Amino acid sequence: METTQKASLNDWLARRETLAIEPRLFIDGAYREAASGETFDCISPIDGRVLARVAHAAAADVDAAIAAARHAFDAGVWAGLNPRQRKAILLRFAAAVRAHQDELALLETLDAGKPIADTTTVDIPGAAYCLEWFAEAIDKTGGEVAPVDHHLVGLVTREPIGVVAAIVPWNFPLLMAAWKFAPALAAGNSVVLKPSEKSPLTAIRIAQLAFEAGIPAGVFNVVPGDGETGKRLALHGDVDCVAFTGSTAVGKQIMQYAAQSNLKRVWLELGGKSPNIVLPDCPDLDRAARTAAAAIFYNMGEMCTAGSRLLVHSEIYERFMEKLLDATRSWQPGNPLDPATAMGAIVDRTQMERVLALIEAGRTETTLLAGGSRVREETGGFYIEPTLFSTAPDARIAREEIFGPVLSVMTFDTIDEAIRIANDSDYGLAAAVWTADLTTAHEVSRRLRAGTVWVNCYDEGGDMNFPFGGYRQSGNGRDKSLHALEKYTELKSTLLRLR
Ligand code: NAD
Repeated sequence: METTQKASLNDWLARRETLAIEPRLFIDGAYREAASGETFDCISPIDGRVLARVAHAAAADVDAAIAAARHAFDAGVWAGLNPRQRKAILLRFAAAVRAHQDELALLETLDAGKPIADTTTVDIPGAAYCLEWFAEAIDKTGGEVAPVDHHLVGLVTREPIGVVAAIVPWNFPLLMAAWKFAPALAAGNSVVLKPSEKSPLTAIRIAQLAFEAGIPAGVFNVVPGDGETGKRLALHGDVDCVAFTGSTAVGKQIMQYAAQSNLKRVWLELGGKSPNIVLPDCPDLDRAARTAAAAIFYNMGEMCTAGSRLLVHSEIYERFMEKLLDATRSWQPGNPLDPATAMGAIVDRTQMERVLALIEAGRTETTLLAGGSRVREETGGFYIEPTLFSTAPDARIAREEIFGPVLSVMTFDTIDEAIRIANDSDYGLAAAVWTADLTTAHEVSRRLRAGTVWVNCYDEGGDMNFPFGGYRQSGNGRDKSLHALEKYTELKSTLLRLR
């Protein structure tokens, strides 16, 4: 096959025919079937075909994975290594992910319906970069010597927390997983990763790459399964921390499971309904319109940070909407395996039907400006065209997270009104403002209740240096950056009395 850059649709189709798919659990350094022998169908949203019958981890499997993780942690085979030894192994793991980029990107595209143009440039390289970043960081982050009474020495150190369960969604299957397991492993923890039942294949595949890179048996385990599998992990008394990315509803349940069991640490990256505010002094309306379209249609709108509420000042509304409708036309769904495709398939039939039901709700309450239908039905896959509504801020589709290619556009007359609408949400993951005035940019950014604010851009900052997470019901804790290490470590104070 040609290199990724040059590969054509036909190249990827040919590669698909020979792709070997590993469908088993990975526990204690080896692949195995589920103890019950049970499997579930892994269906490609590209054409509705079954890709693999994946082992379904039930209670016995989850327990075995946690026992292996606990044993490895207690034995110190990973936590007991010097940070630079862990770094070397994690860098080898990252290199293996890069070396298998085409295979992993193809798996991700087939499994989740994401465009191959994105999985080869964002998902897989992003996961490798995340591993590299935390590998490089871990031998450079030390503790503190606290200022204490003269007869004492006070040390503040960070220690790995123990067994980390990572429960992740399907929109960026490998990348969201890497945001958890990279810092957790770097800090010396054992990990049990549960990918979404809608997109388990890359997580299963990389388990072997991790093991071959030198991560000891039991330190990195993968248990594909559904909500019951996740629940078992979150209720388990031998799990010390759950790092979860997913919906707010399930996040709330996970907190309850922790409270019902052992008060394990719970870190939640949840949903969003992010506002994108265009002020009349926006420095570049063309770019703002193109960016507003990308903010909602990239990754089929299956983005926790999707700019799903667009607030346009009434003075520029007509002009802006013309440009936005124009930009929207370039996001028509196509075959995700075609490198020219910008918008792929919705992850599965259930999610497609959920999005279509919300579009129907929108039709009754608001004004449909573009799209609104399922397309490419003849392929057997699940595709929805880019959809625009003009809405009031309190319409259902303007308040609920849709997690699909559906944008609610609303107008405002003053900055105060825009901020009131923007902040009137259960969520607080991200927000953006477009203005040419520096003071306005700072003032509006400060007043927006969100974990990330973009000014004159959207979804920028693909590097690992920024913490990522939400205010309010968008969650707690932060992925990415050195702050992520705080989630996977306990802080210890040691006081030594001198003679
Ligand atoms: P989901 O909450 O349905 O599922 C997420 C994961 O939790 C899956 O692995 C699922 O199997 C598991 N799960 C389901 N029920 C469970 C239970 N009772 N106990 C334990 N685990 C359970 O979410 P989803 O549909 O996979 O993903 C979409 C959601 O994820 C959206 O709300 C989106 O905003 C959010 N998300 C957030 C971020 C972020 O960083 N804030 C990033 C990506 C996605």
